[in-house]
Amino acid sequence: MKLYPLFADLSGRQVLVVGGGVVGERKVAALLEAGARVAVGAPDLTPALRGWAREGRVQWRSGRFEASWLDDVWLVIAATDDAALHRDIVALAEARHLFVNVVDDAEQSSFHVPAVIDRSPVTIAVSSGGHAPMLARLLRERLEVVIDPVVGSVATLLAQLRHRIRARIPDLALRRRFYERLLHGPVQSLLRRGQWALAEASAERLLDSVESTPSGSVVLLGAGPGDPGLLTLRGLRALNEADVILHDRLVSVEVLALARRDAERIEVAKQAGNHHTTQAQIHALMLEHASAGRRVVRLKGGDPFVFGRGGEELEFLRQHDIPYEVVPGITAALACAAYAGIPLTHRDHAQSVRLVTAHCKNSIDTLDWKALAQERQTLAVYMGNSELPLIQAQLLAHGRAAGTPFALIENGSRPEQRVVTGTLANLAEQATAHDVQSPALLILGEVAALAGSLGWFGRPPLGVTPALHAPSPKAAAA
Ligand code: SAH
Repeated sequence: MKLYPLFADLSGRQVLVVGGGVVGERKVAALLEAGARVAVGAPDLTPALRGWAREGRVQWRSGRFEASWLDDVWLVIAATDDAALHRDIVALAEARHLFVNVVDDAEQSSFHVPAVIDRSPVTIAVSSGGHAPMLARLLRERLEVVIDPVVGSVATLLAQLRHRIRARIPDLALRRRFYERLLHGPVQSLLRRGQWALAEASAERLLDSVESTPSGSVVLLGAGPGDPGLLTLRGLRALNEADVILHDRLVSVEVLALARRDAERIEVAKQAGNHHTTQAQIHALMLEHASAGRRVVRLKGGDPFVFGRGGEELEFLRQHDIPYEVVPGITAALACAAYAGIPLTHRDHAQSVRLVTAHCKNSIDTLDWKALAQERQTLAVYMGNSELPLIQAQLLAHGRAAGTPFALIENGSRPEQRVVTGTLANLAEQATAHDVQSPALLILGEVAALAGSLGWFGRPPLGVTPALHAPSPKAAAA
């Protein structure tokens, strides 16, 4: 069956729904949303339909179907569970050249209702011609994910500018280039932020300079800890639009694989290794590519604003007037905790959580060890691998109980994840015994003991799973 797709303007037009059950109710709701005048015919109605009838939003034709119900209607939907009645309705409707949809019956229907992705005024409809509605629904779900909600605003803006665009750029090829650039430039990102006036101004500027080089931009994007499922939808879209991706070594290959095939990928590893890139070189690369009009994604492990030097990069972009956006990512502390079954806060064990790095510009000595050693709080220590003996010694010296549980999570959220547990007394020793490698995150605090019972991902924890209730410092000293 070959179908001719069309979008019907039903506003103010009469439509009949036969059937007052839940299916009828769904159809009526969608028709009302499209502005149709709906009559629903049935001996009885669902409570919601009854309410709408009382409020005068729908007209109720009570009783069994009669041919006169078809008078003056533009479309008919048959949504009862009576096949014989459906056949009658179809025959009568056909005789009057009325389009009819029979719910769950592709053969009898002369029109089908698609699954819809609503980005008003843009509407995307998916139909399986009534043969596999579930498949159409699944496709709809996928499209919902990849089609940016901002397209609706873009379409509204374009409608407003349409005549000016035609007048200003009569050449079709050039007009196409304008639209291309508009879709890839700052306009979308301004609309996404709700900055309508700036978006308009930006579109106007583009209209006046369509013959010149396009302006580039940078998206500072958090890739999450490794599992590609933990990337945000906004992040996925940015990866799909990128011309150039400057990524850290921490970013997993699975996340990189989601990017546009022909995007240029540049690894800018800052850790020791062959490809040592300094922060200044990263800045220079962002500037070079954005100035050439490219859409740059600066892709960082976890979240760009948590020990990611995202702040410095934005300061640089601001100085050079390069438009940017920030898309957060799931930071290692959240991901490792989740994937090790460790709630970072817990009403019984921890009222606060601190994100700490043991590797900072001004060295580890500046940390407030007294505050860090307080009990009933959780420490999530980033980049602490090489400093474990020192962390252990300082926390003990400042009064944190030797029995405080810890969990070291190596390669959190990735297939090769390992969790090593123990107590503060044997932290460094356990890490060495199990040869814990970077990237690894240390979670220290009463809650870490829960990894033993609540862990769900990968292999069970290695090492000794400590008792849940760590003794207080006093008890330990006694
Ligand atoms: N911006 C990142 C952190 C960068 S600092 C974020 O928000 O997660 C790098 C440190 O993060 C590593 O040394 C390690 O401590 C931690 N880390 C990042 N990804 C990790 C992972 N998948 N598993 C364990 N630790 C991780």
